[in-house]
Amino acid sequence: MKRFLPVMLGVILAAALVLISQRETERRLAPIWAISSFDGVRFIAGAREPPSPPVSMPLPTLMPPAPRGFTPAPPGERPYVPILMYHYVRSVDRAADPLGFSLSVTPEHLDAQLGWLTAAGYESVRMDALAACMRGEGPCPLRAVALTFDDGYADAFTTALPILQRHGFVATFYIVSGFVGQPGYMGWEEIRALRDAGMEIGAHSISHPDLTGLGLQELRAQVGQSGALIAAEIGQPVVSFCYPGGRFSDTVVAVTREAGYTSATTTIQDGPQSDPFTLPRLRISGDLTLEGFQWMVAAYLP
Ligand SMILES: [Zn+2]
Repeated sequence: MKRFLPVMLGVILAAALVLISQRETERRLAPIWAISSFDGVRFIAGAREPPSPPVSMPLPTLMPPAPRGFTPAPPGERPYVPILMYHYVRSVDRAADPLGFSLSVTPEHLDAQLGWLTAAGYESVRMDALAACMRGEGPCPLRAVALTFDDGYADAFTTALPILQRHGFVATFYIVSGFVGQPGYMGWEEIRALRDAGMEIGAHSISHPDLTGLGLQELRAQVGQSGALIAAEIGQPVVSFCYPGGRFSDTVVAVTREAGYTSATTTIQDGPQSDPFTLPRLRISGDLTLEGFQWMVAAYLP
């Protein structure tokens, strides 16, 4: 009997290990099947239970769901698309840092806002697709918002991206090329991960200056070279621009257009979307309640 004891213990241990690793496999598989709001996944998933792979097989790489596209408006119609402006997605102490608080939306607020948008039937559109719609080169969304995130802060990758993915939303991230990799900002690896997740990478100048105060040569560099550098790093064209601090002039607009961009956003809060190079955006600040958010968006698309 004593001889068998170590063998028996070994068998019990091996069985426990198999059980634990199976449970781990199921746990890691859970997110991909748990997504029910995305039609493509629901279709693939059907009513079946996910098969449990043999324990010895390598675990599948879990891919987040592809972002949902938008439902096109009837030909010839171009419904207004509220363009929302975000900066940080993080929690900030209002008393200690009032400006930082104003520029930040908490992860919980962003999650609630995207949840409400989905429930209210809004889809998301990237700025490149919205510009194509405005130029008559692509379909226009029936009922959508455009989500934009300025400056390329690190939390765009760590915090905003997972929330966007959970809701199947796309967004446009405006990157300041000279700030990439600096403390508090994303590096190229994170920016490429955003690209791989279906997000659009736009340009926001080289060093975030007031473009209206620059000579023509420096202006062309800040506008054109920032996009070219980002395009080289991500291996995709960069067609969307955002004026630093929202500052622009007729010259700035002309240079942006000449540089090959198809749209540029401002910080004008309200206005028509007649010119793709002076697009207004709704500022989503830290003190905006969900009710305020709903009111703001619904004012444009009831
Ligand atoms: Zn900025």
